[in-house]
Amino acid sequence: MGALRDRFWELPLADLSEPEWEALCDGCGRCCLHKIEDADSGEIEDTNVACKLLDTETARCTDYRNRKTFVPDCLRLTLKIVEDVAWLPESCAYRRRADGRGLPLWHYLLSGDPEAVHRKGAGVAGRVVSENRAGPLEHHIVDWQES
Ligand code: SF4
Repeated sequence: MGALRDRFWELPLADLSEPEWEALCDGCGRCCLHKIEDADSGEIEDTNVACKLLDTETARCTDYRNRKTFVPDCLRLTLKIVEDVAWLPESCAYRRRADGRGLPLWHYLLSGDPEAVHRKGAGVAGRVVSENRAGPLEHHIVDWQES
């Protein structure tokens, strides 16, 4: 990882270097879960079904560097995507900064604890099932608590 500026997470998202952008992620794992979009209303429902590359116990991608090879439609989050999509959770560090909010105290950049995101309820470690064994998505609709 390249050099990170002191308190870079307080800078506008557009000013972040690539390593700073990557380091901003809190590791919650929510964006690696399948969603169901209603074809008529466009409403999005969350599920607890994880991408096959997600380690369901840690909520970390098992092959982040090569993920596009195995999951071609995996989104690389950009500033435009953060501004455009409705499905990023309220707790997502990118969403919060795009909205002009600060990071929550449990964020690892403030707390120094990468597991706090899961203890505080924003992360999904240990609470999801892999798409490899989930069956129909409709059986897995959940309402994640926003933190
Ligand atoms: S939802 Fe946001 S903070 Fe959580 S894993 Fe995805 S990009 Fe990172």
